[in-house]
Amino acid sequence: MTLTIGVDVGGTKVLGGVVTPDGEVLTTVRRATPDDDSGQTAVVIAEVVAALVDAYPGVEAVGVGAAGWIDADRSTVMFAPNVAWRDEPLRDRIADKVGLPVVVENDGNTAAWAEFRFGAARGVSEVLLITVGTGIGGGIIADGKLFRGAYGVAGEFGHVRFVPGGLPCGCGRRGCFEQYCSGRALVREARALAEADPHRAARLLRLAGGQVDAIQGPQITQAAGEGDPAAIEAFGVIAQWLGQGLADLVSIWDPGLIVVGGGVAESGDLLIAPAREAYVAALGPRITLPVARIRAAELGNEAGLIGAADLARLR
Ligand SMILES: [Zn+2]
Repeated sequence: MTLTIGVDVGGTKVLGGVVTPDGEVLTTVRRATPDDDSGQTAVVIAEVVAALVDAYPGVEAVGVGAAGWIDADRSTVMFAPNVAWRDEPLRDRIADKVGLPVVVENDGNTAAWAEFRFGAARGVSEVLLITVGTGIGGGIIADGKLFRGAYGVAGEFGHVRFVPGGLPCGCGRRGCFEQYCSGRALVREARALAEADPHRAARLLRLAGGQVDAIQGPQITQAAGEGDPAAIEAFGVIAQWLGQGLADLVSIWDPGLIVVGGGVAESGDLLIAPAREAYVAALGPRITLPVARIRAAELGNEAGLIGAADLARLR
């Protein structure tokens, strides 16, 4: 049995795991992502890989899913809106340290591949995946293959401009989708709603110790689940943007299935149910024709590492 390692590198954590050909995760290792130091991040990735190789010495290759724009030959992170990488030769840096073949891939692509191979999109050959987490990630499966585009950066749905002249984004532009539909957007909305009408946000504010500025994502999820009107409305606001965005993406891609994952989507129907309603409304008369359904991702926060490991196996 060929074992490979997958590593998911996000803005806050580096999560690695040893994965079987069936997508089963045998063990994981987790470290914090270093702040503002791209070289140190490669060191941490190598440490995670070394710990996993100690546990399973037979592993054959390493796949790394990174939150950034990866070039077409899957070696260099050209740019990362939320990590300190600029033209970072990540594949070679890691390969030098671990002595195994390394493939680097965008983290939206790794998650899409994992859901296609082992999760919510099994058996569907045309799939769009969107992850709603700190920002928005995306991946496209076309004709049963990962679609990377000419320069390796297809599926960057988070940086489609939704609002000309809108909120500034880490990519250097304004009005990007992820500024309106993401964990950050959820927190911004919930704080604004709590500030405007503390009475409607009573439950949420209690969880945050009475401080509007202390409101964070997990408290919004908990408060919404307990019926807090402001927290529910905050989810509704970002769900509106999500439904609209997915309807627009369907007009371009006509997928057979849309999979929604990421940390904010793990709140389940708090996000996905109102997003479905907004999607149907945005589709308008199109809804009477065959059109993609929206399904929740199945593999949770291990999707990225599972997909990266599988892509390393198929390299
Ligand atoms: Zn952007």
